[in-house]
Amino acid sequence: MSQYRLIYSALVSLYGEPVWQPGLAPVDELISTILSQNTSDANRDLAFGRIKWRFESWDAVRAAPLTEVLEAIRPAGLANRKAPRIQDILQILWDEHGAITLESIASMPLEEARGWLLALPGVGPKTAAIVLLFAFGRPAFPVDTHVHRLSKRLGLIPKTMSAEKAHRELERIVPTEHYYSFHLNLIRHGRQVCRARIPACQRCGLHSYCQHYQGLSGPESG
Ligand code: SF4
Repeated sequence: MSQYRLIYSALVSLYGEPVWQPGLAPVDELISTILSQNTSDANRDLAFGRIKWRFESWDAVRAAPLTEVLEAIRPAGLANRKAPRIQDILQILWDEHGAITLESIASMPLEEARGWLLALPGVGPKTAAIVLLFAFGRPAFPVDTHVHRLSKRLGLIPKTMSAEKAHRELERIVPTEHYYSFHLNLIRHGRQVCRARIPACQRCGLHSYCQHYQGLSGPESG
């Protein structure tokens, strides 16, 4: 069995196999993901809740004074950067569709949809893949900090590979039907066991397949 299959099966036995279900609406998912950049999930959720509460629609956010948007999303951090980005994106959607919608990308070929999202200000491979996978159920594999760290430790990608390049490499390694469940299970394992600073290797159900652990435990422990 391949390294990937061993890891996938071990994660499924630990956490089950999450089945895709619609997440946030596409524009909500995009804005929430932009808010999540360089902050915690709790701060993202707080900022997202505040902007949804303060404005009656995304069009109202687009048309609002920058200072009001900035104040609403302040808990997410980097508000001076994120607020104008959000308004720029909403303006682009408005200019292209006459409405604040992303529905047109549902029917685009995958790479066209990805390219369209990547052309938006502040949207990189992770944000584009999150919108495609979670809002549309399209086969894109997001690489966040947990997925990147675990993929390197487990030996799925080279230790020196950037998160940006890891998107294409993991999309090649992981079967498309596993993108959703593997992404979520890696994140869960990264939060609960394989944490960034001190991974709990002794209680990790993946240590038999883990290159990082094999290196720590020495060649005699195989
Ligand atoms: S053995 Fe350690 S480094 Fe490897 S996946 Fe488990 S917790 Fe992470």
